[in-house]
Amino acid sequence: MNMLVSTAQDELVAFLEEDACQPLFVAGSAWKVLVVDDDPEVHQATVFALKGQHVCGRPLELLHAYSAEEAMACLRNTSGVAVIFLDVVMEGHDDGLELVRRIRGELGLTECRIILRTGQPGYAPEMSVIRDYDINDYRTKSELTHTRLMTTLTAAIRSYDQIRGLTETHLGLRALAEGGSRLFIPRDSRSFAEAALKQLQTLLGCPIDAIFCGPLAGGGGEGDPDAMGILAATGAYVAHAGKGLDGLAHFPLMPSLRKARAEQAHVFDADAICLYLGRAHGKEALICVQHSGVEIRPFVRQLVEILSANLCVGFENVVLFERLHFYAYYDPLTRLPNRTRFLDRMDEGLAGFAESRWTVGIIDIVRFSELNDALGHRSGDLLLIEVTRRLKARVGSEALVARIAGDAFGICWQPGPEGAAALLDVFSAPFLVRGHAVPMRARAGFANAVMAPGGAVELLKRANLALSHAKLEGDQHWRYFSSEMESSTQSRVQLLNELRSALNTGKGLELHYQPQVLPTNGRIVGCEALIRWIKPQGESIAPDVFIPLAEYTGLIVEIGDWVFAEACRQIVQWDRSGLPAFRVGINISAAQFRETDFVAKISSAIEMSGVDPARLELEITESVAMEDPESVARQLRELKALGLRVAVDDFGCGFSSLGSLNRLPFDRIKIDRAFVRELTPSTSQDCIARIIIKLAKSLGLEVIAEGVETAEQSRLLEEMGCREMQGFLYGRPMHADALASWVGGDPAYRCT
Ligand code: C2E
Ligand code: CA
Ligand code: CA
Repeated sequence: MNMLVSTAQDELVAFLEEDACQPLFVAGSAWKVLVVDDDPEVHQATVFALKGQHVCGRPLELLHAYSAEEAMACLRNTSGVAVIFLDVVMEGHDDGLELVRRIRGELGLTECRIILRTGQPGYAPEMSVIRDYDINDYRTKSELTHTRLMTTLTAAIRSYDQIRGLTETHLGLRALAEGGSRLFIPRDSRSFAEAALKQLQTLLGCPIDAIFCGPLAGGGGEGDPDAMGILAATGAYVAHAGKGLDGLAHFPLMPSLRKARAEQAHVFDADAICLYLGRAHGKEALICVQHSGVEIRPFVRQLVEILSANLCVGFENVVLFERLHFYAYYDPLTRLPNRTRFLDRMDEGLAGFAESRWTVGIIDIVRFSELNDALGHRSGDLLLIEVTRRLKARVGSEALVARIAGDAFGICWQPGPEGAAALLDVFSAPFLVRGHAVPMRARAGFANAVMAPGGAVELLKRANLALSHAKLEGDQHWRYFSSEMESSTQSRVQLLNELRSALNTGKGLELHYQPQVLPTNGRIVGCEALIRWIKPQGESIAPDVFIPLAEYTGLIVEIGDWVFAEACRQIVQWDRSGLPAFRVGINISAAQFRETDFVAKISSAIEMSGVDPARLELEITESVAMEDPESVARQLRELKALGLRVAVDDFGCGFSSLGSLNRLPFDRIKIDRAFVRELTPSTSQDCIARIIIKLAKSLGLEVIAEGVETAEQSRLLEEMGCREMQGFLYGRPMHADALASWVGGDPAYRCT
């Protein structure tokens, strides 16, 4: 069995063994000639006559048998006998002919040539024997003088060689046909390279000293994608498998290899064959075989060329497969494993984690998408590559680093005594990108690998949960998972699913409307649309609970679209029923402003419903305005150009950037109910509500107070110059029909 680097493809090995054929790629070995005769003198005479003779440039090797049984034994043990000189009459009358029958039939030797000899000139076998048993020649022993013997032998050997050639071609083609399909089994370039060398070895029929050169990283993987190396090797080159080409600089096959690469073609040199298997997706592959001066017959060359055509296709397939595999499991930018691969690798290692301090972490870069937009995507890519480099350097080679999302890295490692959170130190120095020093911040969630029975998915979930806690509670940049986090999340996830289905089915979500009045005459000037969610079982969920959840998950965008459309529809319906016109305040959240088509969506909802835009007032909090002042300012100007009005909600309790009041085109300030609640005659001279009202006046903005619950609060606010009020004193948020009745004067809806 020929030696190969590895026997990864057991099936292939089995195939090679069962199919081992005669060498096609042979050295100038001797022709084997068997002399079968019971007369020792004939043996001596033959040896004498053939001594030192060559036929077709190759010497002769004589084998001797003195009986039919000896001849059979010899033929059983010796392969490649070219010619048999056979005495027709040995002990028995027809012993020789019987032996011919057995050679052709029992032993199945059809290629060797048989020359019958007889001592009696008058004795000749029948023509049928010559025809049926494929006898080459028939001679009397006396005819076998030196010259005659050589002529007969040469003719027989030529004929043997031709028959061999045909058989070899046939076998070679069969090996190609059978091996061809096996070349499509390997799914990575190394196993393919091994299979290819085995195929070549089978075809050439003898052990070979060969290398298969190709991309070391195949069509993917974590290594340098361009490095060329030795994917598989046999014979003298076995030790070089898996290494680069540098180590072979002085080997005899290097010149042929260089030539083949330069010419992109096969090279058949005096001492090496180099098969150029082409370029698949930019990856080159070649096979080099060292053959130190052995003759390569033309048909062998043809077979090798056919094989290399097969190998080209096979190699292309395997590279394609590896690329698909790479894209499925790796991030092409950082060449890090992706989320799927990260989970797989963690699952593989989980058993070993139990004994040590293995920790799973998720590192999330703060506002990476903004960095990306501001600096350009190329710079964003460079930042990610640099983060990768720093993280890898920090956690060491045993650790697992993966890119599990656009701006999030997954890490599985054993933190040092300084603790897991020290990992965030990699962000303490600014990142240099194209001459700019870019400061970056990150948040992290960690989970202990020891605690996870549910595998890697569960671990990552925990780290992610810890991360979301780190995000929600802004003070600290990281959190360690605890089981309390889990129970609160389970109910939140459940709630979110129910909310989504409420939104999809249109069942359970309602808008209620809270009147806004002029207390001087009790007339309605507007109302605020407030969402209500009543679950199928009748349980109502407070917006304070589900709105933050929807904001966090982005579902608020769809909810906001629904609220806006529903409010427009309701206004049109009220108008039709003859209600006096009043404006409707609609709460808009930050996520909605982040949608690039926010203004367009508002505009088309207005158009679809046919509502007068002057009836609508968007309520946004200060924090929305703070998030991206320029973009929000632009959108607000566009919205105002459509005819809508804008109020700043909960004024005074956000970031209180008074500057934003100047820059942003607000129409109204809503005084937060916290400042209304604290109003008493004794505090009213020096209270925040008064300052806000003054501020609004000086800026030329209208003002409304929220959460007015008592007549005293109403009176004090009026004194300060606030004309509009909203609160339980006048009306609770109510159903649209109820509001219509309220406006119509139904006392049942009056709180006072
Ligand atoms: P908000 O915008 O500050 O809404 C006013 C809240 O004050 C409402 O609470 C309302 O019921 C309550 N309120 C009104 N008058 C009084 C009063 O006299 N005393 C007291 N103690 N409270 C009063 P609600 O309906 O629970 O809404 C809570 C928050 O949920 C809203 O605060 C708003 O931020 C949000 N929200 C409600 N509907 C929507 C919506 O459609 N979209 C968005 N993005 N947020 C909404
Ligand atoms: Ca509001
Ligand atoms: Ca408010």
